[in-house]
Amino acid sequence: EAKKRGRDTLLVFSAAMHEAAKQRVHLVAELRTALATDELELEYQPIMDLRTGTIAGTEALIRWRHPDLGLLAPDTFLDAADEAGLTVEIGHWVLRNAIAQTGRWKSDPGLPADFSTHINLSPADLHHVDLAPYVEDLLVRHGVEPRHISIEITETAIMRGGPEVAATMQSLNDLGVRIEIDDFGTGYSSISYLRTLPASQAKIDKSLLDGLTTDRQQETFVAAILQLIHSAGLGAVAEGIEDREQADRLRHLDCEFGQGYFFSRPLPVADMTDLLAHRDGAAA
Ligand code: C2E
Ligand code: MG
Ligand code: MG
Ligand code: MG
Repeated sequence: EAKKRGRDTLLVFSAAMHEAAKQRVHLVAELRTALATDELELEYQPIMDLRTGTIAGTEALIRWRHPDLGLLAPDTFLDAADEAGLTVEIGHWVLRNAIAQTGRWKSDPGLPADFSTHINLSPADLHHVDLAPYVEDLLVRHGVEPRHISIEITETAIMRGGPEVAATMQSLNDLGVRIEIDDFGTGYSSISYLRTLPASQAKIDKSLLDGLTTDRQQETFVAAILQLIHSAGLGAVAEGIEDREQADRLRHLDCEFGQGYFFSRPLPVADMTDLLAHRDGAAA
């Protein structure tokens, strides 16, 4: 009886795996079409200066407006894209769109001097040798100063990437583009390595905010991480801030920037544009 149940479970399991594999192949084929037919889009989530309460920047987050399935989050398709070798093409698409949009914002409604659009790149993008010239060309074409662009790379990608990724980070940094270490605190960077990276900011992962306002030990831990970031000469951004208590606590701990549903969900581009147009003390 137990044996039979085991066999049935196995059959169900492999049928499910087969179905998942079929869906994935299908997804990849559709993703190729999506790239060609403009089904990908970017939402923009504001990044706030916690000290002044003003908008310091925005993070571009990719979505796929799937004809049948609706708006898909990156976690549902980026792995499939990677397996299909589409990562670099998608990375280029994101860079083209986010830099062009930053150029449009710059002329209307105008941008604060230290505003930056944050763009996520994956390890495969950074292994692409021509990344820095590609970015430079886009900056020139759209009249965007490099300081208005920040490239987010996860701590894990940096640690696994080795010298090639470090070299690409250096070339981007040489252009004047800012580099940010994303999901900081989830990988295992060596503390001394942190000081050698050509990065200007570290974004502490949402998971570190769990218990921040209820658990004294967690608060001490986050304070230590912020000190570590600052002692390496980097600015700190906290992501995934969901309530006022977290925002207040982080400000008291000298975290300069914050991002999360408490301030705003990721927005369609038109809404992000409105927000920039109506920000306090908007410079035309
Ligand atoms: P990430 O770069 O760490 O982005 C932050 C994620 O947290 C986003 O999810 C954002 O919508 C979500 N988030 C922001 N505030 C809150 C909050 O208060 N609470 C909660 N629960 N979540 C919050 P999203 O958009 O689903 O993106 C997931 C990940 O996909 C990103 O993590 C990034 O690693 C990747 N990704 C997104 N866009 C791109 C892209 O254009 N290229 C690449 N290579 N990766 C991307
Ligand atoms: Mg990010
Ligand atoms: Mg992150
Ligand atoms: Mg994260």
